Formats: sequence, structure tokens, C-alpha cells
Amino acid sequence: MSDVLLEVNHVKKYFKTPKGILHAVDDVSFSIDRGKTLGVVGESGCGKSTTGRVVLRLLEPTEGSILMEGEDISKLNEAQMRSKRKEMQMIFQDPLASLDPRKTVGQIIEEPLKIHNIISSSKERQKRVLELMETVGLAQRYYSTYPHELDGGRRQRIGIARALSMRPKFIVCDEPVSALDVSIQAQILNLLEDLQKQMGLTYMFITHDLSVVHHFSDDIAVMYLGKIIEIAPSDALFAAPTHPYTQALLSAIPVPKLENRRERIILKGEITSPINLPKACRFASRCLYATERCFTGEPELREIAPGHKVACFLQEK
Ligand code: SF4
Repeated sequence: MSDVLLEVNHVKKYFKTPKGILHAVDDVSFSIDRGKTLGVVGESGCGKSTTGRVVLRLLEPTEGSILMEGEDISKLNEAQMRSKRKEMQMIFQDPLASLDPRKTVGQIIEEPLKIHNIISSSKERQKRVLELMETVGLAQRYYSTYPHELDGGRRQRIGIARALSMRPKFIVCDEPVSALDVSIQAQILNLLEDLQKQMGLTYMFITHDLSVVHHFSDDIAVMYLGKIIEIAPSDALFAAPTHPYTQALLSAIPVPKLENRRERIILKGEITSPINLPKACRFASRCLYATERCFTGEPELREIAPGHKVACFLQEK
């Protein structure tokens, strides 16, 4: 039986701009079971990071509901949300930009414990910080160092320790390895995976790189211009990518074995503006299979196999 931790229903996030309404997130729905990972993939500007921020209510949704363990957190007031946020944390892409350069590693990790008055004794707080450092593989000798003195991988470990200090249930990981060297990326992904197993954490893992999330995610949602255009169990998506955009993304992943290589699909055409969108498939201007219908109507996300949904007219019977 599934145990849903997070349920996002018809969430929209629009921004007013001088040129019109920007549809950053446009009617997005998904759920994540406890202890599982949803990878969210797409090009920059597709709305994946905005979705992560809306889910945590760092940005207010324009419409829709966000249920955490059945409770609609979109209706909580500021004080209620502050308390709820302990359970819902975020790990950022650029550790250096997200860490206060004037604070030491110890001070950064201890900060949430102080703000939320979780541990009042400074001695106990230090003990907890050292425990957290050990959990994320940061040696105790870094306790009094500053983030700029450390490499990218260690800085990201600080960000992870800070997020864990609140004993969260759910973490939005926003491109947590994109700024790191490939060898360090694997270490951080392994750490996140180990922490998930140890603590039963639930992740929303945002990335522009499909290859990063294949083994890491249980399910993958592909976003394009504010919409989920395909969502499926990770292996099913890689075995049978169905939306033409997903197929193009997958064809760009280097594969070592010649017999497994897919023909590279190069996308041409202009990306449709997310402002004042026409009623059409958002991918139509770049799609190799677009027909007249694709320019006059918008396909809905439909289930084509258990847990596998696609928004494309080609899949309609
Ligand atoms: Fe391409 Fe049409 Fe499918 Fe959109 S609906 S992805 S334009 S075939």
C-alpha cells in the first residue's frame, strides 16, 4: 500500500511582468511516497525550481493545494508555516552562495537549532553539530573553518548538515550536484542516498541532467514551460521515453555501449514564450511530429501505463 507524504494538486505560480502574465508553473500535480524520490527534470526556465520553492511555500502558489501528510500547508498562516518548515527543508545548488561567508561551519549548522530554539544549551548544540558533521562526512577539524576555505563537495556537505539539523521528513534538493566536479557529484549523490535509507527521507530532486537522476529517483517528472509533460517510474521512462521532448533529452545522454546508443535528436525552433501562452502544445514550435492540431489545442496529461503519464496528442487513441 502506498504511503503518500506529499501531494501537490493543480498548483500554479504566475508572475505579473510588464509584458503580461508569466506562467512559471502551470497546473502541476504529483505525489511522492514516504522514503521515495521524485526527480524533476527540464531545461532552465521550465519551472522546476519554482515548483520546488512553491512546494515549500518559499513562494506562494497562485492556485492549488499542497498536502503534507494530508494537511494542506497552502492554508497555513506564517507562524504555522514556520513550524511546519522544520519538516520541509531545501538543499541549494550553489553551496557558497547559500552559506553565510562570515560564519564558521559550526555556526552555520547550528543556526537553525538556535532560530527554532530546538536546543538551548550551547554545549548541547555543539554536540549536535559535531554529530551532524559526522553524519555527512565532514571531519570535526572543519568546525571552526569558513566555507570559502573548503572545496565545493565539503561546502555542499555543510548545506546538507544544516538541512538535516531540523530532522526533516522531506527535502527539496535543487540541483545539489550541478556546480560540482563529476567525481564529487557521485560522492554527494551516494551520501544523499545513504541518508535517505538511514532516516527514511523523502526527496524532490531537481536537475537539468536526466542522467543524474536515473538511479537516484523512483519516479521522474519531465517539465517543459511550466507543465509536467511526462511522469513515470524511472526505469520505465528510460526504457520507453514517450513524449518527443523526453526522447530528445534522453538522446543527449552519452552511453558507453555502442549497441545501446540512441540517435541524437537535435531540437530546432524557438522556445515558446511563457508569457501570454497560446492555447497550443507548448512544445509544438520545436516538435518533429507537430501537426495542425498541436497548434490549436493543448494535450492533457494522460495515463498510458500504470504510473506513466504523457501529455501528447500522439498518445491519444
Ligand atoms: Fe509534438 Fe503535438 Fe505531441 Fe506536442 S502534442 S509533443 S507538438 S506531437
